Amino acid sequence: MNLQTSLATALVLDDNGGTRRQIVSDLEQSGLFHKIMEAKDGLDGLSKVSVTLPDIILCDVEMPRLDGLKFLAAIRSKPETEHIPVMILTSSTDFGVKLKGLTDGARDFIHIPYDPQELAARTRLHLNTKRREEELRKKNQELELLSNKDSLTGAFNRRYLNHILTIELMRAARTDGQISVLMLDIDHFKKINDTFGHQAGDQVLKRITEEITASLRDYDLTFRYGGEEFVAMLPDISLHEARKVAQRICQKVHAVRFPDALANLQVSISIGVASFPGMDAGTAEELLEQADQALYRAKTNGRNQIA
Ligand code: GH3
Ligand code: MG
Ligand code: MG
Repeated sequence: MNLQTSLATALVLDDNGGTRRQIVSDLEQSGLFHKIMEAKDGLDGLSKVSVTLPDIILCDVEMPRLDGLKFLAAIRSKPETEHIPVMILTSSTDFGVKLKGLTDGARDFIHIPYDPQELAARTRLHLNTKRREEELRKKNQELELLSNKDSLTGAFNRRYLNHILTIELMRAARTDGQISVLMLDIDHFKKINDTFGHQAGDQVLKRITEEITASLRDYDLTFRYGGEEFVAMLPDISLHEARKVAQRICQKVHAVRFPDALANLQVSISIGVASFPGMDAGTAEELLEQADQALYRAKTNGRNQIA
């Protein structure tokens, strides 16, 4: 959103040039926009979106090459576009299409011919909602920075890992104790996103986090290290014992079943194990680096295994 003027960018998709220009002209009249892009079908729309992210999309249903509902699904499946409100504009009175559009994440459904003032009012409403949602997301990100937890999975975050692992390593060194870390990475996670969509990918991340955490003791901690990468910190656990824990997590993750559309999905995870003392690692970074190298071996050895 253009902050200075608070004017927004819209994208209008319609294969009928006359209808499209009418919508654009009505939106221009509304005074809400500083830029209105046009596309003649879903594919054209996706290429426009890849150049400039609009604040709102007004989209026809029946279009050649890629229709409105498929375009909507594509928009919803990408993290950079999933928050853009999509309003469907159509002269079709097909109730099934309307229901599908709204279930699949369209914000609104407007029948052509529409009243231009109503179109402007509804567009303003969705822009305002989007603005508020953006503010909330930003607030949440700020809160996350102050917190120790990752907001999606509830696991501890990487910042906290660096802090607590350093402390635990000092404690282990002073007391002649030991500590192990597991570096866990979901196998072919990109394919899960590509096949089932980003939101389904998020569900998988949450469920796998639960499974990892449930496989650990109360005083072990689970961290989200990156996108689909986790670290488990196991105080007072030797390399030998840690390998057994990792093996168990591998099997349990492989056995997880997901509901509904993900019923056929089977996820696997690769795990690198490293321990202090033993190998040449004195600092948190060195220990994590060793676990990461082991993880790399687990991946190159064929995944769904530990190293
Ligand atoms: P490998 O078996 O080698 O680990 O393959 P991979 O596909 O799991 O690994 P890669 O690093 O190529 O892809 C990781 C993907 O994870 C890419 C990225 O879009 C996705 N991802 C990262 N963070 C998130 C998230 O928060 N949610 C979702 N749904 N996907 C995410
Ligand atoms: Mg992966
Ligand atoms: Mg990865």
